[in-house]
Amino acid sequence: MSTGASSGPTVALLGTGIMGAGMATNIATAGLPLTVWNRDRSKAEPLAAAGARIAGSPADAVRGADVVVAMLWDAPSVADVMAQAAPGLRPGAVWLQTSTVGVDGTQRLADRAATLGVVYLDAPVLGTKKPAEDGALVVLGSGPDDARDVVAPVLGAIAARTLWVGPAGAGSRLKLVVNAWVVTVVEGIAECLALADGLGLDPALFLDAVKGGAMDAPYVGLKGRSMLAGDFTPSFTLAGAAKDAGLVVDAATTAGVDVGVLRAVRDHLARALDAGHGDLDLGATYLTHRRTGD
Ligand code: NAP
Repeated sequence: MSTGASSGPTVALLGTGIMGAGMATNIATAGLPLTVWNRDRSKAEPLAAAGARIAGSPADAVRGADVVVAMLWDAPSVADVMAQAAPGLRPGAVWLQTSTVGVDGTQRLADRAATLGVVYLDAPVLGTKKPAEDGALVVLGSGPDDARDVVAPVLGAIAARTLWVGPAGAGSRLKLVVNAWVVTVVEGIAECLALADGLGLDPALFLDAVKGGAMDAPYVGLKGRSMLAGDFTPSFTLAGAAKDAGLVVDAATTAGVDVGVLRAVRDHLARALDAGHGDLDLGATYLTHRRTGD
């Protein structure tokens, strides 16, 4: 670990999008020395106010870092950015891979880590923009036990809790299971609201009917009200949900599990993506369930 004024690890964070920006702010606010890089530099620059150094390249960002956090988009973008980072990587550094990359993706990245001479922790996260900003994510950590102490201060800054689930790869498998649930619930809410509307009811009656009972869930009111209000400010983009639904179906197919509902959800999200809703929140799937005025 680097020596210096701080007793914590030196951290680099690659990818300051919706999730990475909040995570970086909390790492810097916790007093850990932090350098950030983002492809679109304008999204990294505001983090200087929290104390982060802004790097001009991935290699510059990771130079000397004990922990390299990747919060990018998918396995190809993570692999590409880590290839750019390679000249700066400290041998033995811990790569904390928090992006959602799927089962095959995380295996490819673990293989890449071995060739780069760094320790791979597969650590996708649960929680959207607000939990990322609040340092209240749930991390699904997996990988070698002896790397856990090194990343503990980073996890303490970004997460309400970390669930250690086994060898590298187990975290990404559990992440797919949870996101399978997320997309199923949101599609279910959207379809029920659209169905209520189609049957001539005020769709808000669906939310009132289940409120507080065994069929309710915090997401029903939260996402349902946003759908009815037409508020699709992105916390988890529809493009991200479509990506993850594809990863879920791919993983299930490889595992020989029949996931008919999830295939339908994946296909519906693909249609919503084609309709141009990718940059909106996942709740915008409601827009493509609504009647078209027939
Ligand atoms: P986002 O705001 O779109 O951020 C994506 C990040 O990846 C940006 O920094 C983007 O850079 C970078 N990126 C994309 N393609 C790249 C490429 N080819 N080369 C270099 N950089 C690239 O998305 P997000 O919501 O923060 O999601 C980030 C990851 O967390 C995804 O894997 C997502 O599935 C996962 N996740 C999201 C949520 C959520 O609720 N939002 C929750 C849990 C996990 P630019 O800014 O330059 O485009």
